Amino acid sequence: MGRRKKIVQECERLMDNPENIRNIAIAAHVDHGKTTLSDNLLAGAGMISDDTAGQQLAMDTEEDEQERGITIDAANVSMTHEYDDTNHLINLIDTPGHVDFGGDVTRAMRAVDGALVVVDAVEGAMPQTETVLRQALREGVKPALFINKVDRLISELQEGPQEMQERLLKVIQDVNELIRGMTEDMDDIDDWTVSVEGGTVGFGSALYKWGVSMPSMQRTGMDFGEIINLEQNDKRQELHEKTPLSNVVLDMVCEHFPNPVNAQPRRIPRIWRGDAESELAETMRFVDEDGEVVLMVTDISMDPHAGEIASGRVFSGSLEKGQELYVSGTAGKNRVQSVGIYMGGEREEVERVPAGNIAAVTGLRDAIAGSTVSSVEMTPFESIEHISEPVITKS
Ligand code: GDP
Repeated sequence: MGRRKKIVQECERLMDNPENIRNIAIAAHVDHGKTTLSDNLLAGAGMISDDTAGQQLAMDTEEDEQERGITIDAANVSMTHEYDDTNHLINLIDTPGHVDFGGDVTRAMRAVDGALVVVDAVEGAMPQTETVLRQALREGVKPALFINKVDRLISELQEGPQEMQERLLKVIQDVNELIRGMTEDMDDIDDWTVSVEGGTVGFGSALYKWGVSMPSMQRTGMDFGEIINLEQNDKRQELHEKTPLSNVVLDMVCEHFPNPVNAQPRRIPRIWRGDAESELAETMRFVDEDGEVVLMVTDISMDPHAGEIASGRVFSGSLEKGQELYVSGTAGKNRVQSVGIYMGGEREEVERVPAGNIAAVTGLRDAIAGSTVSSVEMTPFESIEHISEPVITKS
């Protein structure tokens, strides 16, 4: 059996077990390294070639689609990762980087349960860092922090271990201060802050493909002194091999981000304003694959062969070909022509997509990004709010 076929089969197996699914977003201030990191994760998980990673091919170019003659969806990619002897399905939703797309970022956040916030070690937290954190927290999405471009602290700024740790600590403190300011009015008692000891902070270089976290340093014995030594002596490849970024980050995702079964009971009351006592609320809270179908559409893309593809989070029920589904804000129903999941950046048709997954659906001709698609008429997910922020121009 071909490698691709094997991965498809593995994805299909994993998607039936919501405990092993992580739906995540990577969000960052522009240029802090979101694209480079995303590509790294895909390459590390074997979904794109290692050489391609870092050239911004997987997540965001149409040119790439034409060059390689395959369909790469800009907004969704999936990968598998083994953590703690168990394979996991990780669905990564792209959050548009540009400030004008505030609405899209919110929508992307609605589909995920965890957000990896990337901050440039040199620049520190910036206005868009604050915006994406606010959007994540508002949607009940758990944040984790990756401090990127640490290579620059060593090679350009010539910082020693002490200075470097102080700077990293400052970034963490700043981010936690933002988080505390945004969560003090929340009526739940969850601690949303990130911490090195808790394993929700990673550091490294997306460009040179190495990364560390407290748990990974404990596992590998790597410390800041050795990192500085290898980086200064141009042994970046060795650093990458000793502590590969994708492993460290994907381990962090599997260990610390909630799976849909843990996340939906907390998130549904926060993001859905319908009747909390209804059966539908219950099937969504409990990720019931046998319940009524509820899909929240986050993105519409064009496939040259299949036409319009609606993708989004299945909160309840199982999507199948032939279903007649309501689309919020429109009269009548649409018929599902095909259902699929993402594998790498490519869409793969499957028989059914159960609750907790990110699905790709054709046939929903009335759906737009933000639509709620369901097998019963229901209160749609709240209308999308645009959060404004100071306009920043990319230099
Ligand atoms: P995005 O706008 O957040 O998607 O950022 P990109 O991933 O496009 O990265 C912006 C720029 O920073 C590019 O020139 C990258 O090569 C560079 N970059 C990304 N990660 C690192 C890193 O870890 N170290 C260094 N030195 N440069 C990086």
